[in-house]
Amino acid sequence: GVLGSGDFARSLAVRLVSSGFRVVVGSRNPKRKASLFPAAAEVTFQAEAVKKADVIFVAIFREHYSTLCDLADVLVGKILVDVSNNTEVNHHKESNAEYLASLFPACTVVKGFNVISAWTLQSGARDGNKQVLICSNNQEAKRIVAEIAQVMGFTPVDMGCMSSACEIENIPLRLLPAWKIPIFLALGLFLCFFTYNLIRQVIHPYIREQKNKLYKIPIEVVNTTLPCVSYVMLSLVYLPGVLAACSQLYYGTKYRRFPDWLDQWLQHRKQIGLLSFFCAALHAVYSLCLPMRRSHRYLLIETAVKQAVEKKMTIWVEEEVWRMEIYISVGIIALGLLSLLAITSLPSIANSLNWREFSFIQ
Ligand code: NAP
Repeated sequence: GVLGSGDFARSLAVRLVSSGFRVVVGSRNPKRKASLFPAAAEVTFQAEAVKKADVIFVAIFREHYSTLCDLADVLVGKILVDVSNNTEVNHHKESNAEYLASLFPACTVVKGFNVISAWTLQSGARDGNKQVLICSNNQEAKRIVAEIAQVMGFTPVDMGCMSSACEIENIPLRLLPAWKIPIFLALGLFLCFFTYNLIRQVIHPYIREQKNKLYKIPIEVVNTTLPCVSYVMLSLVYLPGVLAACSQLYYGTKYRRFPDWLDQWLQHRKQIGLLSFFCAALHAVYSLCLPMRRSHRYLLIETAVKQAVEKKMTIWVEEEVWRMEIYISVGIIALGLLSLLAITSLPSIANSLNWREFSFIQ
């Protein structure tokens, strides 16, 4: 059974029907909504639908749960699946699922499916997130809902008892939690190196020789800053491993917990590494664009004119030429190797490597 006829209810019904379940939808206005559902799903009034189903997905918002109180008698003994999400983290004191359970103490409430979007439900199991996090105080109800999720092509994940509902409801609201520290770190480093390069390339020439080099800020200064950030970030990927090894040697055991800061650092290595790759990739693009700039063209022409005035035929310096060729080729190889590291950090690729292959690439 599905209560509600909105986006989520429709997607649920479509997926349940295509997975072989008999579906009955409960709406306040079944006549108007019936055409939106697959023909195989029965669309009827809420009370009728509840009578016909043992497992009922409550696809309506928390604010409207109390309007279901009239159905309390017919809901006795049923399993209610709370699929709702909030608009803010820890928006209410108690989770939506606990609130639903408090309104209907004669029902068994299971929290689940809220981390799946209506779009994912409709677009098939092969697209999008496949995990359905489930929690409930009733093991049997949890098993039944997990089985339904499995038949629908999802991977049910048992998150324990109802007290986990709040955590499950917060998951769709999180914004890249593992990336916060690495992003702030990268921005902080960028700011430091940018200031340093700005002083070196723009402010210093202005103070010493009254030369206006402000045009260098958008591309040249940024371009010299990016590899500095990339290198430091890359070293920050491997440094905590070394510190952890030193700590184990010092204490003579690997069974001692690392300090919290080191633990956190170790857990963020992948994100720090990917940001290092991001900066290196941007540096490559910026570098490729250097000759496109008008300032570069003017400087080139100026050099040519000076050379003509001085009647010089060539300014070729063999050592300089070799230096630059090797410099760029090493940069390209470094970016290639860093790309390899970044690619192998993708879960699908990392999972296909055994430990030996992974450490070989590292
Ligand atoms: P929606 O399109 O606005 O649908 C909500 C439905 O609630 C309405 O169609 C309405 O159906 C029903 N309803 C029952 N009593 C109501 C009342 N008193 N006032 C207003 N509506 C009432 O919302 P939705 O996107 O389907 O979301 C439904 C639930 O699924 C929410 O709790 C949401 O957090 C959760 N969810 C949604 C998604 C998503 O991708 N959309 C993903 C995860 C979870 P009738 O008029 O037929 O009664």
